[in-house]
Amino acid sequence: MAKTLMIVDDSATMRKIIMRTVRMSGLEFDSTEEAGNGAEALEKLKAGPVDIVLCDINMPEMSGTEMVKQARQLPNCKETKIIMVSTESSQDLINSVMADGANGYITKPFTPEKFQEKLSPFMS
Ligand SMILES: [Mg+2]
Repeated sequence: MAKTLMIVDDSATMRKIIMRTVRMSGLEFDSTEEAGNGAEALEKLKAGPVDIVLCDINMPEMSGTEMVKQARQLPNCKETKIIMVSTESSQDLINSVMADGANGYITKPFTPEKFQEKLSPFMS
């Protein structure tokens, strides 16, 4: 089944690293796009649904935690899987963003194996 991916991170270098790690993980997407903060990501999500979003937390303009809350209000994002990718590893923060509607959490630094483990349940 066709799958689409969006990578949201304020660092262009990190977006490239994430993209490369996704490729190394063996997961295949039909299309990928990028956004530099939560607000930009929401605009793109409004324009067209995405299957999987990999989302940073600490970003200017709109954080990943705020993006998750707002994305869950969008009618076309009910099925979108949002996986957080962050250096933040506090269990309270993880619990809070999962309660807000995130579908998974990957801490930086990450590996292709970690991406495979966290994303493959959403690839069928
Ligand atoms: Mg960041």
